Amino acid sequence: MEVSKKSPPPIHHSDWHHRVEGELRVANKNVFELASIAGATPFYVYDRAAVTHRVQALRQALPEQVQLHYAIKANPMPAVVNHLARLVDGLDVASHKELLSALSSGIAPQEISFAGPGKSPVEFEAAAAAGITLIAESMAQIESVAEVGNRLKVTPRIALRVNPAFELKSSGMRMTGGAKPFGIDDEQIPAAVRLCRSLGLEPEGLHLFTGSQNLNADAICEAHSRVIDLALELVEQLNLKLRFINIGGGLGIPYFPGEHPLRLSPIAENLTGLLKKMSERCPDTHLVMEMGRYLVGEAGLYVCRILEKKVSRGTTYLVTDGGLHHHLSNSGNFGQVIRKNYPVEIACTNPSETKEQVTIVGPLCTPLDIVAEKVILPAAEVGDLVIIRQSGAYGLSASPLGFLSHPQPQEILL
Ligand SMILES: *Cc1c(COP(=O)(O)O)cnc(C)c1O
Repeated sequence: MEVSKKSPPPIHHSDWHHRVEGELRVANKNVFELASIAGATPFYVYDRAAVTHRVQALRQALPEQVQLHYAIKANPMPAVVNHLARLVDGLDVASHKELLSALSSGIAPQEISFAGPGKSPVEFEAAAAAGITLIAESMAQIESVAEVGNRLKVTPRIALRVNPAFELKSSGMRMTGGAKPFGIDDEQIPAAVRLCRSLGLEPEGLHLFTGSQNLNADAICEAHSRVIDLALELVEQLNLKLRFINIGGGLGIPYFPGEHPLRLSPIAENLTGLLKKMSERCPDTHLVMEMGRYLVGEAGLYVCRILEKKVSRGTTYLVTDGGLHHHLSNSGNFGQVIRKNYPVEIACTNPSETKEQVTIVGPLCTPLDIVAEKVILPAAEVGDLVIIRQSGAYGLSASPLGFLSHPQPQEILL
C-alpha cells in the first residue's frame, strides 16, 4: 500500500474508532459481528485504518526528516508488524523471535535494530548474519558483537545505547538516569568507542531512550533537546561518523479520565531546531524516533463476554470470560501505582436506557482480576459484550497467558 506523507484523512485523537449511532465499529463491523468473525470471546481486534491514520498524522505533524521506527514489543502480532513495516522507515526488535518477524516483513535488514540488556549467543549470531544493527548496551555486548563477527567473517553493524546521567520527568516508566540496566553510562561512552575501534568495529548510531507513556509535551521537548545535545557532544569529542541518532519513543496516549492526547506541535517545533543543529554538526546523520504504544495503542479493542451478573452486599458484579491473563495492563498490574479504569463500553443485545454502577471482573481466582471498577454503564445482561479501548499496545503479549490455563484469545487485524 502506498502511503502519502501529505494530507492524511482527519483523525479524532481521543476516539479513533468509527461509530454509527454511538456504536463502535472496526472495518465497518459492529462488536457483535466482530465476535462472530473471531469465533469466540475474548478477542483482540486491531483497526488497520486507524494504524495507517496514526502513522500518516504523525508524519504530517513532525518534520519530514524524522525517520519513524516501530518497536515490535508494543504489539508483535505478525499482521500488525507486516502492516506497519510498509508504513514506517524501520523496525526495532528485542528478541530472536521479534527479529524473525521483522525480517519476514520484508523490511531491509539495515533498517532493523536490536536492543535489549540481555542478548543470547543465538541472538548475536542471527543479527550479525542478517545484517541487522546490534545495539550494544554494555562493554560485554560490544565484545560479543566483535566475537560473532570474527566467527562468521562479517563486519556486524553496531550502535551504542547511552544511559544519560539525567532523568526525564513525568514519564510513566523511566528508562534513564542514575543506575540502569539499559545502555552504557554516558561517562563510559568514550571507553566504549575505544573498545569498538580496538576490535575493528565503528559505531553507526547512538540510541538514547528516556521513558515510556509520556503525555507531557514540554518534558518530551526537554528530553529530546538534552539527548541531542549529549549525542552531538559525543560525536564531536569522539569524531563519530553516525548513520543515525535514535531518540527513542515514549509518546503517550490518554488512558484515564483527565488525560489528554499529546500535543505534537511543540514537539515538532523543537525537533525542527534540533535537526538544524544536527545538519550543521553531523549533516549525514538521520534522526530516528522509535515508537511502540503511540502507533498501535489506540487502534486496539479487547472484547470479552458477560458470563454472570451477581450482587454482593450492594455491589453489582459482571463476571466475564476475559481478564488479566489476557490484558494485564488493563487490570492495573503492569506498572500502574494506583489502579484506574481503561475506557470501557458495553454492547447490549437488548439496549436499555437504564444505567447502573458495576464492577467488572474476570474469571480468575484472584482479587487482582479486575476489568473495570465502579463504572456507570448501560444495564447489561449475561451474553452482552464488554469492550476495553486503548488495548492495541502492551496487551496480549504483556500478559500472563498461562496463569490459570484458560484458552488463548484470538487476535484479528481488520
Ligand atoms: C519499549 C521500547 C520502545 C517503545 O516504547 P513506547 O513507549 O511503546 O513508544 C522503543 N525503544 C526501545 C528500545 C524500547 O525498549
